[in-house]
Amino acid sequence: MDGCDVLIVGGGPAGSTCAWRLRDSGLEVRIVDKEAFPRDKVCGGWVTPAVFTTLGVSPEEYRQGRVMQPVSRFLTSILGGPAFETTYPETVSYGVWRREFDDFLLRRSGARVDESCSIRSMKRSNGAWLVNGELQCRVLVGAGGHFCPVARHLGSRPSMERAVTAQEAEWEMDPVTAHACSVRGNTPELYFSPDLHGYGWCFRKSLRLNVGYGHLAQESVCHQVEEFRTYLETRRCIGAVLPARFRGHAYLLRTTSARPLASDGALLVGDAAGLAFPSSGEGILPAIESGLLAAEAILAAKGDYRASRLAAYATALEQRLGPREPSRLTRAAEALPHPVFRALVTRLMRNRGFVNNHLLSQWFLHQNREAMVLTG
Ligand SMILES: Cc1cc2nc3c(=O)[nH]c(=O)nc-3n(C[C@H](O)[C@H](O)[C@H](O)COP(=O)(O)OP(=O)(O)OC[C@H]3O[C@@H](n4cnc5c(N)ncnc54)[C@H](O)[C@@H]3O)c2cc1C
Repeated sequence: MDGCDVLIVGGGPAGSTCAWRLRDSGLEVRIVDKEAFPRDKVCGGWVTPAVFTTLGVSPEEYRQGRVMQPVSRFLTSILGGPAFETTYPETVSYGVWRREFDDFLLRRSGARVDESCSIRSMKRSNGAWLVNGELQCRVLVGAGGHFCPVARHLGSRPSMERAVTAQEAEWEMDPVTAHACSVRGNTPELYFSPDLHGYGWCFRKSLRLNVGYGHLAQESVCHQVEEFRTYLETRRCIGAVLPARFRGHAYLLRTTSARPLASDGALLVGDAAGLAFPSSGEGILPAIESGLLAAEAILAAKGDYRASRLAAYATALEQRLGPREPSRLTRAAEALPHPVFRALVTRLMRNRGFVNNHLLSQWFLHQNREAMVLTG
């Protein structure tokens, strides 16, 4: 029977980073993904410099032959309200194309990769897993995104969860359209809903334009996407024709996810665990950090992969990403009557100090948070 020590289900940033960390461990690590890479991923492709620091990759090295847009400004507003610009003296973010970014990380992971291979079943007996009835492993890492089959096996029920739903389109503009397009590469545009539960964005990366909208709410995001499209076409006039269809996906914020993180012989990482930052919806950095911490837990377990040994992963993740429940500030905001909260947000969003110091510097750019660097 075919087998390995660690089987990682999903070759996105969480799975490939976990494999990369285990590359010289002596463990046989294998990644399976239902897609063939390079593959597209519904995503804005906005990352902070901490992503590259944590991956141990220099932005200069990564940019060779790939889409890589440095960002030093933001344009922010409540949708339909006055917008203003915040300028930084240095690069505070980058724009990547997920098709390239994920392929780069997967190829450098050093693991054997089985592409176009969907995981359909898993069964545990005698301290090992049997996957798809033919592949045996001792540890299973669920890195298959929001609908990860390992997460489902451990009890997640995506239809019952309060997820962020988001839609986007990314395409390459022809040179004439690119010239006419008013969205600037170094200045992502963020358009917030008056309850701060969602925002739309226009993010240009050289000739590529990414436009999308995401929100945390019970109802579907389609209505907000339509409203945002209409705003861009009739009032913002970005100078580029939006594609007829946006592609959608869902994922969980750390504060709304109750998914298990570790079980006997299994760990969940990235979107499979539901880890995105609540204030911005950023999911790539927590996916990468969780991949590294899962690898650390596997190494520390030294072959004893019972839940009690792997529980250290959940503790490490909590220390790094904070507790799962909403912050006191969020709870206080949610307790306010809706119209009062909206009026407060509208006022705050006109205040440069709030937008610069809280919304952008803290909530989006984590400027008070050190990048995670593992030694050894
Ligand atoms: C519209 C939108 C915009 C976003 N924009 C941003 C952004 O700008 N910046 C940011 O930081 N985050 C953003 N996010 C969130 C971010 O995309 C995710 O948090 C991130 O991709 C999580 O990485 P991951 O490795 O956990 O999962 P993924 O990147 O989803 O990778 C999961 C992999 O598992 C594979 N897989 C799934 N099921 C199976 C199966 N049964 N068998 C085998 N393989 C399987 C998939 O093919 C996929 O390759 C956005 C999300 C959305 C929906």
